[in-house]
Amino acid sequence: MTAGVVRGSAIIADGAGRFVVDTIEVDPPAAGEVRVAIAAAGVCHTDHASLRWPGPLVMGHEGAGHVEAIGAGVEGLEIGLPVLLNWAIPCGHCWQCEHGAAALCERTHELDAARLGNSRAHVGATRWRGQAIERAFHLGTFASHTVVRAEAVTPLSPTLPLDAACILGCAVMTGVGSAVNVAQASPGDTVAVLGCGGVGLNVIQGARIAGASTIIAIDRVPARLERARVLGATHTLAPHEHDGDHAQLVAEVRALTGGRGVDHAFEATGVPALAFLPLKLARNGGNALQVSGAHGPATLELTELFWNKRYLAPLYGGCVPAHDFPRLFEWIADGRLELAALISHHYPMEALERAFDDMLTGRSSKGVLRIA
Ligand SMILES: [Zn+2]
Ligand SMILES: [Zn+2]
Repeated sequence: MTAGVVRGSAIIADGAGRFVVDTIEVDPPAAGEVRVAIAAAGVCHTDHASLRWPGPLVMGHEGAGHVEAIGAGVEGLEIGLPVLLNWAIPCGHCWQCEHGAAALCERTHELDAARLGNSRAHVGATRWRGQAIERAFHLGTFASHTVVRAEAVTPLSPTLPLDAACILGCAVMTGVGSAVNVAQASPGDTVAVLGCGGVGLNVIQGARIAGASTIIAIDRVPARLERARVLGATHTLAPHEHDGDHAQLVAEVRALTGGRGVDHAFEATGVPALAFLPLKLARNGGNALQVSGAHGPATLELTELFWNKRYLAPLYGGCVPAHDFPRLFEWIADGRLELAALISHHYPMEALERAFDDMLTGRSSKGVLRIA
């Protein structure tokens, strides 16, 4: 039986800071593509930023669901299979892919342009009010249905609840991968994490899995620090009022690390002004990482880079899907990686405004939309 066009619903950003939940039509998958019925989608700071991207745009880039239709030539998938969506889709053949940096694939955008150039895609895979529209990160997970390249889906164990697994494809991978793949935290290492939201909590989990002995969680919201403890933080610090230059915070982190600073300091707040604070928290010769993907200007005093400190801004935790997703699944199965304990709030699609508000004020640590 050939799949036809489906009608569903999606959250559409209008490009001017607003969004609506509305009806969409989604085409059947072309060759090399699959259509996924989305069950749940994580809410990330990047989704809030996407309100200002050119619109209209189907929002959302973390998600999980079931394979609903399969295009020609796609192997290894079947209808009804639970799958994770991955926004950084590697081609497997470009210079970056061949040098182990799949997250930096040089052809993802090119391939997508080629897809949009074919005759079917002129009509558009997703239509809203009769018009073909883009989907965030070629996924658009805040939607009942989406069509994606087959390489963007990874089969999930049927025992994993989709409303928890949906956050694997951004928050979990970014956080855990930054600690394990990029900083390469090792047993006995010391770690500090600024910001205990979706990414920060996963940096903490990654550091714990890597065997770090001191993991300092820093956040202004007590509930987030409690969650950080549950997930592996050995110490928690709340920034002080009137500590504008962070001198007090730096002194407290040093006091916990023999006066030296940590081996690996991470910024996961999404606040541009804090992007270089990890340089003050890291020891000489240590790693400072900005993993929140914060956009905007920040000021750097160059002496912060002295003493062999390395400053890194990794994308997506250095994700190589074929290597990293099976390892994350293994860690979930043996109980080392927590999923459900990361998620503080579930929302219906209609409550995205509240989900953003909870995220931006720090009331939630990680929010998930249940897609109806
Ligand atoms: Zn994200
Ligand atoms: Zn590539």
